Amino acid sequence: MKILLLGKNGQVGWELQRALSVLGEVVALDRHPVLTAYGILTGDLSDLVGLRNTIRSVGPDVIVNAAAYTAVDKAESERELARTVNALASQVMAEEAKRADAVLVHYSTDYVFDGSGTTPWKETDAVAPVNYYGATKLEGEQLIVASGCKYLIFRTSWVYAARGNNFAKTMLRLAKDRQSLNVIADQIGVPTGAELLADIAVAALQQTLVKPELCGFYHLAPSGETSWHAYATYVIEFARTNGESLAVETINPIPTTEYPTPASRPLNSRLNTQKLRDSFSLHLPDWQSGVTRMLMEALNK
Ligand code: NDP
Repeated sequence: MKILLLGKNGQVGWELQRALSVLGEVVALDRHPVLTAYGILTGDLSDLVGLRNTIRSVGPDVIVNAAAYTAVDKAESERELARTVNALASQVMAEEAKRADAVLVHYSTDYVFDGSGTTPWKETDAVAPVNYYGATKLEGEQLIVASGCKYLIFRTSWVYAARGNNFAKTMLRLAKDRQSLNVIADQIGVPTGAELLADIAVAALQQTLVKPELCGFYHLAPSGETSWHAYATYVIEFARTNGESLAVETINPIPTTEYPTPASRPLNSRLNTQKLRDSFSLHLPDWQSGVTRMLMEALNK
């Protein structure tokens, strides 16, 4: 089996390089052109013609899209690029998947919902993004569905990885220098590790390849829920217990209204994962276990 992976160096893309490798040959690309056995290929999602040529040159059985325009605040002003990468490039992948009878694996976000209420969102709930990034991710989903291709779309939330920067590492860095931190306490969601996102995608893909009726939307996040404030507190307490010397004494909970950003954020990012667990007979660990592993790596424990 041949798999084309786009966005290989992002948080999720990096973990997918590892997780997909047991399924078959993986042609993994980032945005830069590279010479491969299939010629010079570009994985730049803002180059729609180049992207289509890449897919046709490789002729994959599976296309996995881990690339996205993920700068939520910047997307408000860089609209055309955000839409091209998140919506129009997804459409090209979907059209090519349909043409070649390939499966498209794609990631989306809880930001397709408006964040109202306190109930975890189901796949069938009404969508209404509150920022432009969410709108582009929603359009990407809709274009994939409209193409008629076989797809797995995983909506997730609050992604972190050991590699690169993330919220937990930022909190640790600030906690070393500052005595007091203000952290948003009224946005509720679930920190989701890139490792889990990659491993679940591979497990689900394996089953979908033999049972195509499993194609569709799935909400994917670990079990439990937290706020950014409780998440920060967990991270800082873990670090202190494990011998880190930190200056921070108080972590103040603040409302979203006290931390204005160019893009609005939904307050309720909870995702109902029942469909995923039932369809693929999978267990989702609690969010703390993945965060703890990432912290052990970050702290070199
Ligand atoms: P990252 O920001 O870590 O990675 C995104 C990748 O996309 C980067 O490698 C980036 O490359 C690449 N990319 C951006 N623009 C282009 C382009 N024009 N051409 C090719 N590659 C491009 O994101 P995550 O791994 O966290 O996200 C994976 C998926 O999960 C995405 O679909 C995202 O929307 C979704 N998601 C993410 C959440 C989060 O909190 N991060 C929350 C919910 C969903 P480069 O490094 O060169 O810029």
